[in-house]
Amino acid sequence: MKRISVLILLLASIGSYAQNTLQSETLKTYPVLWQQQAAEYRALCFQAFNIASLRLAQIPKQDFKKKKLAIITDLDETILDNSYLEAELIKDHQDYSDHSWKEWTDKSAATGVPGAVEFLKAAKQKGISIFYISNRDTSEVKSTLLNLQELHLPDANTAHMLFLSNTSSKESRRQIVMAKYSVVMLLGDNLNDFTKAFEKKQVADRKSETDKDRADWGKKFIVLPNATYGEWENAIYNYEKNLTPEYKEKMRYEKLTGYKVP
Ligand SMILES: [Mg+2]
Repeated sequence: MKRISVLILLLASIGSYAQNTLQSETLKTYPVLWQQQAAEYRALCFQAFNIASLRLAQIPKQDFKKKKLAIITDLDETILDNSYLEAELIKDHQDYSDHSWKEWTDKSAATGVPGAVEFLKAAKQKGISIFYISNRDTSEVKSTLLNLQELHLPDANTAHMLFLSNTSSKESRRQIVMAKYSVVMLLGDNLNDFTKAFEKKQVADRKSETDKDRADWGKKFIVLPNATYGEWENAIYNYEKNLTPEYKEKMRYEKLTGYKVP
């Protein structure tokens, strides 16, 4: 009898593990494949950086003489492609963790998002300083710096890298740059990379804030695609932490908008 109970418990735990793993794999496989294999992803990145280049060309010549100009950019999934970690996790049947992230960034092996390196190099050649505002941890500065240098990115030095210290909000770090420079453009894959207006906002409010800034998208704000992770996903879960996979699935299902009247 005891043996049967143990066997049942074991089978139940294997079943639950398989279900959670399958859920994680189902959730991430498509967006990671899209980032790695869809030429449409590549085209969207080129489109973003082409528009960004066009906007830089529109800056009046006298502005370069009068002011110190700067670009503020995010790193992950804006300049650096980290899809390799997500792919590895799927293959290993593992979920994301701080440990797996650190193990990946320690390798300094991220590649450039299509068009990113060329764009930033051209901006620097015009005389514009580049500031990397990232929520990578300050313990990752050294490995990230090596990664940026290996990609030959401009301003790859610690004076131009503002990483996560006491708050995930990037606003105070943006203000540090804005105090000394005229910021001509911000780049990111997460709306929190642009202004504080999006922070901790519910899905509907994120949309209405996006509408308020409508004229700035593709102008001062350049957005890169990221369907794998981001604040958009946290907003779906109302920023609640430690939810069970089942409850998360329920919340995702409830956010789907169909066309039939229930
Ligand atoms: Mg990012």
